[in-house]
Amino acid sequence: MKKHRLKVIICLMLSMVMLLMAGCSGGNTPASGNALYKAGTYTAAAAGNFGDITVSVSFSETEILEVKIVSHNETEDIAKPVFSKFPEEIVKGQTLALDTISGATNTSKGVLKAVEDCVIQAGGDIEALKAKKSLNTAGEPINKTVDVVVIGGGGAGLAAATSAAENGASVILIEKAAALGGNTLRAGGAYNAVDPERQKSVEMTQPLMEDLKSILDLKESDLGDMAPTLTVLKGQINEYLKGDTSVLFDSPELHMIQTYLGGKREGLDGSVITGKASLIEILAKNSLKAIEWLEGYGLKFTDNISTVLGALWPRTHGPTEPIGTGYIRVLKEASTKLNVEIMTETKGMELIVESGRVTGVKAEKHDGTPVTLMANKGVVIATGGFGANPEMRAEYNVYWPDMPLSMPTTNSSDSTGDGIIMGKAVDANLVGMGFIQLMPSSHPESGALSGGLWGSAESQVFVNSVGKRFVNEYSGRDVLASAALNQKEGLFYIICDQVTAGNPQPGGKNGWGDSIDNLIETKSVYKADTLEELALQLGMAPAVLVEEISKYNSYIDKGNDPDFGKKNFGPKIEVGPFYATPRSPSVHHTMGGLEIDESARVLSTDGKVISGLYAAGEVTGGIHAGNRLGGNALADIIVFGRIAGESAALGK
Ligand code: ADP
Repeated sequence: MKKHRLKVIICLMLSMVMLLMAGCSGGNTPASGNALYKAGTYTAAAAGNFGDITVSVSFSETEILEVKIVSHNETEDIAKPVFSKFPEEIVKGQTLALDTISGATNTSKGVLKAVEDCVIQAGGDIEALKAKKSLNTAGEPINKTVDVVVIGGGGAGLAAATSAAENGASVILIEKAAALGGNTLRAGGAYNAVDPERQKSVEMTQPLMEDLKSILDLKESDLGDMAPTLTVLKGQINEYLKGDTSVLFDSPELHMIQTYLGGKREGLDGSVITGKASLIEILAKNSLKAIEWLEGYGLKFTDNISTVLGALWPRTHGPTEPIGTGYIRVLKEASTKLNVEIMTETKGMELIVESGRVTGVKAEKHDGTPVTLMANKGVVIATGGFGANPEMRAEYNVYWPDMPLSMPTTNSSDSTGDGIIMGKAVDANLVGMGFIQLMPSSHPESGALSGGLWGSAESQVFVNSVGKRFVNEYSGRDVLASAALNQKEGLFYIICDQVTAGNPQPGGKNGWGDSIDNLIETKSVYKADTLEELALQLGMAPAVLVEEISKYNSYIDKGNDPDFGKKNFGPKIEVGPFYATPRSPSVHHTMGGLEIDESARVLSTDGKVISGLYAAGEVTGGIHAGNRLGGNALADIIVFGRIAGESAALGK
């Protein structure tokens, strides 16, 4: 996996000096006389997303003088708006009445809590500071007119804005959060594309060959509107089998068939869902071009091709920059260069419809300032999914026997389905809303993807809390999630050795940018020299884990897993030290959403184009159907984001 989370520990010498000095001020002593505070510098720590955030606060007898973030382990790009705004606003307003920053709720809460503790240490009155009116008051209404308005500043929205501007449109992009990025930023960066140049160094292994040959047995009559593609693919496979089969086979048609079959699912009500062939075709045939487009704007991809979990075939690319940061960086730069106006902390609330055409958006800034944006040519909805809207998930779910409100999510807290709600209000048709992808291997508490150690899908070994395997680890994401939910408390461990963990080193970082030492310290990862010791740390009987792993290693020798049918293996688990990462399923991707046509125009409930309205990215439905292949989301948002932007700019 190329997914990274960039964590940085800030520990300036200056702050250290302040920390040492802090003790001299004496804690918990009430301020005396007219003084509001006992002057001095105090430090405190409170939990953010990933461990403690430590702040130091300096007080005079009457004022908060300075707030500093001393150390943290948060994802830098996500936490940045909090770290830059909160210290300033607390001092400027002498207040603790700050709203949490959208998209960085836990970081906001952590900073506020730590500052509160410092206020208490200084003998201040936190209730008075919390009651003190925030500085934010609504300003004069903002009214603007451009050609294209884009709602949402994740990958799809930024791609749409860039592409609309490339096509000559004046563009405004509004983003609800304080920073751009959405789930795209938090995603791992895995991107599927058929890419003959990079794939020519990938070997065609026996299990892949078996998978490929099994396609020859498929029947066109079972493939709906994808039948003609199957016929073409069978021809390609037969040709390939006549020649050199040492190098991986791949083609857009194979990507299409895998996306289609990988997404074909039956709901609890017996209804069967599949992706729309014409949309899948656009995805598969344009994903490499979209990589080249991104490269043209400065994004660099490694030459390494892998199979991200649930991708089913080695065509996963990854950028050189951690997590989704590279995608957002280059698209922000590109759109800014093309004069796209970006308004953050501006939430799209309602589409404006005039004479049956969508002509604009009513929005609101975080301080309540009303914003009206008129679009001469079109509005693009790119607000992402509804993974962080538990009520909406529960309302639409038709796939999982249970969709608890409390289930964590890998998503940004802004993925609340706003675009779907806005679209529905203008009669947009919704497709596939009941199918929600769970990420099988997420952090059991935060729900995040990051915070662990593992290698590519073949090399992963899952054991439950008694140390037994329970699934073919190379399965699709829904199969893995379902199997995981059947384990005690939905908990399992990914077991790695030094090799399959990617050779982690003390003081080093994993592929997500997490500090290895911190992962071990916070028990996000367990490490031991032997499997026996690892089992003891996990509360398992050592003999059970040892036996299970040696059985698994013997299956690699035989190339056959009689327990769960795994065929695609990585290396054996045999080189110490050994690692275990606790994992649990969390809500990851909402496959359903606004129905679009091939030009990314939004369709109404009666199948007609809604004039002036376009959509792209996770807010749309119809491509991934019941189960999205790992690595297909980023390809989807860039490919369709570009199309939506171009269609809107050209008034298609
Ligand atoms: P995609 O992958 O489809 O681009 P993302 O989750 O990456 O989806 O991006 C969607 C973006 O839309 C997020 O940054 C989110 O904060 C933003 N967003 C969601 N709702 C609104 C809204 N009502 N107004 C403006 N931006 C929104």
